[in-house]
Amino acid sequence: MKQPIPFLDLKAQQARIAADLRRRLDTVLEHCQFILGPEVRELEAELAKFCGAKHCVSVSSGTDALQIAMMAEDIGRGDAVFLPAFTYTATAEVPLVLGATPVFVDVDPRTFQIDPAHLLQRIEKVRAEGKLKPRAIVGVDLFGQPADWPALVDIARRYDLFLLDDLAQSFGGSLHGKMLGTQADATATSFFPSKPLGAYGDGGALFTESDDRADLYRSLRTHGEGKTRYEVLRTGMNGRLDSMQAAVLLAKLAVFPEELLARERIARAYDQRLGNAVVTPKRVDNSTSAWAIYAILLPNEAARDRTQAALKADGVPTAIYYPRPLHRQPAYSGQHDGSALPVSEDLAGRILALPIHPDLTDQDVDRVCEAVLAAAS
Ligand SMILES: *Cc1c(COP(=O)(O)O)cnc(C)c1O
Repeated sequence: MKQPIPFLDLKAQQARIAADLRRRLDTVLEHCQFILGPEVRELEAELAKFCGAKHCVSVSSGTDALQIAMMAEDIGRGDAVFLPAFTYTATAEVPLVLGATPVFVDVDPRTFQIDPAHLLQRIEKVRAEGKLKPRAIVGVDLFGQPADWPALVDIARRYDLFLLDDLAQSFGGSLHGKMLGTQADATATSFFPSKPLGAYGDGGALFTESDDRADLYRSLRTHGEGKTRYEVLRTGMNGRLDSMQAAVLLAKLAVFPEELLARERIARAYDQRLGNAVVTPKRVDNSTSAWAIYAILLPNEAARDRTQAALKADGVPTAIYYPRPLHRQPAYSGQHDGSALPVSEDLAGRILALPIHPDLTDQDVDRVCEAVLAAAS
């Protein structure tokens, strides 16, 4: 059997950035300011510049970024937080940890992004029932592409809801010529190693245009501290990014724009060569994708599972994001009001993610395409 293609190739990426990475890590080892060292401040400035945001506050993970953003708005018991059913578990976990209730919204069948029309129905239903107070919307930019931000902003304003962008999968994507990071009241992203911009451990960041929110985020990530270190103003958490991870991210950020172009080239090759055989992802209008995930749709679950097995036998790894929508997860099903979420359920049975990363060679792309075409015929 041929050597399998790597689904993600962090070793090849490391070889490309080796010299800069080593220099930056050595600098941290020299100064020994492991927490909130100069790399953290430098990274925050660079990330803010990259996405055109006024403030960037780095944090310990994407999940903690979501949590700090919701803690800053005092979201908790009795509050409804609207979010897509077809996303990673962290999006729904955070409101629950804070005592709030996630309200699941269906997604668009072709872009996989939260469906604004269904969001409106869900908000109206919660208002009519009068048990929970609508407080926030989490728009997830799924798989690298942006959610429908103009529609989400409009709905959030109409109902006076806090709008949070879960950008964990899509840092580096853009909408209407603007990098993602400034669409909502606050934006949370993740630097988990497999995300488009990944650290060598956990990491995340918050972006906001609001000076007050940025101050709150800095306080919350360090135990709710005030102007001085041993003044505790509020209940916070230990949610900082460390200097080692910031050093890694600075080395990776230097090559990130060219990596985004490489991902886009691979996505185009897949679109062109696979578009007649399987359903390829629909591009959101006027956007660019960070291509965290390139997901195709097969006609049904049996065909999806057959295709996945055939690709595996050809040395082409795939992944299923997500095999279960969140309202069907044991941890969350008790929270769900029973509303139908047919698109999320359908996608879970038919979706399949192909390898996409900047170190995939032309030969790898050929192999993926040939294997998909053979399996689909
Ligand atoms: C990865 C991810 C998160 C969580 O990020 P971590 O850094 O792993 O905590 C949150 N939301 C979405 C949509 C994700 O894909």
